[in-house]
Amino acid sequence: MANAYDYDLYVIGAGSGGVRASRISAGFGARVAVAEDRPLGGTCVNVGCVPKKLFVYSSHTAEDIEDAAGYGWTVEGVKFHWPTLIANKNKEIERLNGIYRKLLDNAGVDLHEARATLVDAHTVDVGGRQVTAETILIATGGWPYLPDIPGVEHAITSNEAFFLDDLPKRVAVIGGGYIAVEFAGIFNGMGSKVTQLYRGEQILRGFDADVRHTLAEEIRKKGIDLRCHVNVMRIDKTDTGLTLHLTDDSMLEVDTVMFATGRVPNTKDLNLHDIGVATDEKGAILVDEFSKTSVDNIYAIGDVTDRIALTPVAIMEGMAFARTLYGGMPTAVDHANVPSAVFSQPPVGSVGLTEEEARAEHGDVHIYRSTFTPMKHTMTGRGEKTMMKLIVEPKSDRVLGAHMVGPDAGEIIQGIGIAVKIGATKAQFDATIGIHPTAAEEFVTMRDRVEPLAEAAE
Ligand code: NDP
Repeated sequence: MANAYDYDLYVIGAGSGGVRASRISAGFGARVAVAEDRPLGGTCVNVGCVPKKLFVYSSHTAEDIEDAAGYGWTVEGVKFHWPTLIANKNKEIERLNGIYRKLLDNAGVDLHEARATLVDAHTVDVGGRQVTAETILIATGGWPYLPDIPGVEHAITSNEAFFLDDLPKRVAVIGGGYIAVEFAGIFNGMGSKVTQLYRGEQILRGFDADVRHTLAEEIRKKGIDLRCHVNVMRIDKTDTGLTLHLTDDSMLEVDTVMFATGRVPNTKDLNLHDIGVATDEKGAILVDEFSKTSVDNIYAIGDVTDRIALTPVAIMEGMAFARTLYGGMPTAVDHANVPSAVFSQPPVGSVGLTEEEARAEHGDVHIYRSTFTPMKHTMTGRGEKTMMKLIVEPKSDRVLGAHMVGPDAGEIIQGIGIAVKIGATKAQFDATIGIHPTAAEEFVTMRDRVEPLAEAAE
């Protein structure tokens, strides 16, 4: 009986997923409280998507100023002041923290600003106080992972990169995933000398091979020293900086080393094991399609479940949870064809299957690819290329995947994502009139098939 408990729903974590689930559940009439011991909004608002995108805007300004020369502008006395950027960013994030607080307040959700742990399946300890709830939702997100190597205490992660006192002159970024390529681009644009070290064959594992190759080429052109097949074994602090000892027996001296080597689910201190909430070997909470854990009244959403670690996915999971439990509309989460962008420079946008995945699932697939100089750069001399690609299933003519590297890739792929989600065919793409002159029009004007990737065809 719901009334026997202090609340109908207790949410642990006020990030993107937790706040959405709290608000919508309360809107359906549930009595809801949420616990959070850090600034409201979670990773995305405080140390993720939002400040990262602001940094990308700042960083890309350097290139925009250079490119202005081709259009007749002389820009003199250009200077960059890191503390101004940090101060303005902090102000904007505080504004967003305030909006999150208001959203919870307006929805009638009680906010408990303390750390919460589970006492039993219906009881939470929040800052030393015990609170009971019929249902508990865990939305505690993730935390940067650092490999256990000597000297790693001298390294930073993306958490600290947003608050550095000074812009480092020489930076090593370790990793080849989303965060690594984004921060390598950010520091490079701002004028740091950037070395990016990746242990594997090619950055952005899991993305389409053409995207990976194109981006690697473009970021090298911009001056990032991207080295693959190499990792850090040890970090020594010296009088002049940090010396990295690398697996290829070389050494690298930098001022800052940033590890972007993945994130782990935030489940450590929740007491999940004692309560019987099952996790996988990484600590991620195992859930069914309604986000229910192995304990009947405990649910989990967002990065802590390690399904797809993206803010809009956590929000969708939070919505589905609220509709299922309190809206009378059982809604399974749908992780198919989730579009995403990497805010590298140039950015990447992707939706649907990669060529490799499409080939594994559907056998023979048709590939359409276009590589061209974006119109803006015909007069800047930058030499940057844009790559667009469609993957089509021949029998049904369905577009299985769309991928892009180039300016505005995220903005463009968001629209293309709708078409892929509703199962549009290549003929329907072709029947769509392009908007001229844009880069996006290329997605509806690619007529000639190209050879599949050599490695995918093997
Ligand atoms: P990723 O999983 O994307 O990348 C981790 C990288 O670190 C990989 O290149 C991995 O190599 C490498 N790595 C892992 N362990 C080690 C190690 N011990 N030594 C050296 N290298 C290592 O994680 P991120 O931290 O970049 O991002 C976490 C998640 O956050 C992403 O998966 C994404 O879902 C989300 N995110 C989304 C963004 C967006 O939408 N724009 C932006 C930022 C984050 P390998 O490939 O060999 O495993």
